[in-house]
Amino acid sequence: MTARAGTGTDGDEAGTEAGSRTGTEPGSETGTGQATAVPTLSPSRAADFMTCPLLYRFRTVDRLPEPPSPEATRGTVVHGVLERLFDLPADQRTPDQAAQMVRPEWDSLLEADPAVAELFADDTDGSALAGWLRSAEELVHRYFTLEDPQHLEPAERELYVETTLDSGLRLRGYVDRLDRAAATGELRVVDYKTGRAPRAGFEQRAMFQMRFYALVLWRLRGTVPRLLQLIYLGSGEVLRYEPDEADLRATERKLAALWRAIQRAGDTGDWRPSPSRLCDWCHHQALCPSYGGTPPPLPVRAGGDGDDEAPSPRTSPVDA
Ligand code: SF4
Repeated sequence: MTARAGTGTDGDEAGTEAGSRTGTEPGSETGTGQATAVPTLSPSRAADFMTCPLLYRFRTVDRLPEPPSPEATRGTVVHGVLERLFDLPADQRTPDQAAQMVRPEWDSLLEADPAVAELFADDTDGSALAGWLRSAEELVHRYFTLEDPQHLEPAERELYVETTLDSGLRLRGYVDRLDRAAATGELRVVDYKTGRAPRAGFEQRAMFQMRFYALVLWRLRGTVPRLLQLIYLGSGEVLRYEPDEADLRATERKLAALWRAIQRAGDTGDWRPSPSRLCDWCHHQALCPSYGGTPPPLPVRAGGDGDDEAPSPRTSPVDA
């Protein structure tokens, strides 16, 4: 069952969905109806389609560029700090040490992806950047109210996982952290979110991403992870869930049905908008019929290129 821990108030539905990494990943999840080498789905793109089929189309079929957002970029920086924190000897994993890692992490991101500089293009006196870095440091500090990293030695961090189901659907994604119990070998899957925990009633939806990872790990390693744990740094809460085989079989059926729905949309061209409060974060409102826009013509691709990829995953507060 899902349980809450830590402090904080009611969560925000934003910030509860799947996320993975900035950068490209192998595989195709276009769902255009054209032949692709291997149908592939990640938690982020699955969440896109469940949120709004048209958003999925814009991101995955049209591959429209999206500008960096302060929230999503902060998520990338905070994830980087929490990953590298465990490179330090245990006794150096302190809140102040972690906060000092924020600025270098931002500098590294700038070097790897200079486009994020546009976030602060108008920040002539540097105050906006300073405030944004402070907000990232606060999230890093809050992490220490939820876990003590001096007593943790993760088995894996930023672990790329991929498996192909019997149906032929390939699942892939990045797991923030995998812990293995020394005594039993049991696995705990951990994911950090820089947003707030979901409101009561939305926890199961938030756990979908974690079940996705649990299913992949079960298929890869033959063992169902003992615990799935979502750490919400925005509100200082933790969601936990203990999956079982029946859960993960149900997740597999759900993903197969989702992929069929994506293929149907690709075959018919019926990528429907599904307006919600998440439209506030959508970069494509101007092209969305729900906001008076017209989507561009569908791209014509040769198909068969199984290594094409969707755009950068952590592109919205939902991903952060
Ligand atoms: S604005 Fe809303 S309904 Fe339109 S594509 Fe974006 S998320 Fe979907």
